[in-house]
Amino acid sequence: MVRPLTVSGVTANVAVTVLATPPPTVQFTYVSPSRRSNAADQARYQAILDSLANDARFSWIPAVDRQAYASELALYQTGMRTQAYFEPQDGTPYPGNSQSAIDERASQVRELVARVGEFYSYHTQRSIYLAPLQVVRLEQSALHYWTPMIWSPTNVDRNPIVNSITTELRRRGYKSPNPNPTRSDTIHVYIMDGGGGWAGAWMWENFGGQAAIGDVSACLSRPDIPGVEPAGARARWPGHIQTSWVTCTYNLALGTVVHELGHSFGLPHPVDFQCAGLGEALVMQSHWNADIQSPGFFKPIAGVGTNIGIMKQWDAGLCKPTDLTKGYPVGIGTPSRPNARYRSELEILLDNPHFRRNP
Ligand SMILES: [Zn+2]
Repeated sequence: MVRPLTVSGVTANVAVTVLATPPPTVQFTYVSPSRRSNAADQARYQAILDSLANDARFSWIPAVDRQAYASELALYQTGMRTQAYFEPQDGTPYPGNSQSAIDERASQVRELVARVGEFYSYHTQRSIYLAPLQVVRLEQSALHYWTPMIWSPTNVDRNPIVNSITTELRRRGYKSPNPNPTRSDTIHVYIMDGGGGWAGAWMWENFGGQAAIGDVSACLSRPDIPGVEPAGARARWPGHIQTSWVTCTYNLALGTVVHELGHSFGLPHPVDFQCAGLGEALVMQSHWNADIQSPGFFKPIAGVGTNIGIMKQWDAGLCKPTDLTKGYPVGIGTPSRPNARYRSELEILLDNPHFRRNP
């Protein structure tokens, strides 16, 4: 196109190439370790355990966190000794030490990701751009990705597995978070075999972010019975999440991924702004109520009007804060985002450039 350009009062016609601006993108990546832990992995792990308590190199970690790490690591170690923690209980390598086994799960993850997109489209009447799923057979064991936990003082979020996986993805040329995350509007979401029962999310300046979800790929084989654990699914879980209250169901997997992505979009927990009255109705509080057999993929909750799944309108009766230091600014955290106090989750999402009008 030709556009008049004015420079110091002189007007000229200048050919301007209009580059298509890449849309803000949500990039899902499904990663799976390719081998079981070996003696070298375990020796590295043991060295961390042995040196954690008193080593001056770790003095930068607050003592309370060191204690938490120590107990967490001890838990991992217990499982590791029985070859139970980082690898499936049924004795198979994670998740079946072949590209074809990973591809089979990847197709289920791909379907899950599409439903995550549908959840947000339903509740916002907008579209988000989901890049095609990346599927990566990692080079190492799950334990290998966990162990850098203590070795990286620059690891600001102190999450070992996310950082070490990101490092490998970057080295191997896969799409991965920008080393300077504030310069990117892409949100990266990892679905991590070997990630355990852990999930977390970050939001960055310019509407970028990252989310990471542990072992949910084992839970996706029966979307036709989404509230029921598929036979044998739990058996594949690492030992520490063999608890009765966490279920390996399709619905819980969906709710967990929607929840974490919600954080990267800028949504805090309702309890952060004392919104307990809506808690059971909102995925940011009660992700276990996700349900692919209900409208909007969320179980109906009596008495909350349209505020199901995502809060569509601020409800002062149900959400009125009793402490003015609480509110949506708590947890929003980045300067580019508008002050969101007393605004609904829907309004916050619609301010996010990831959400575009349907054409
Ligand atoms: Zn959360």
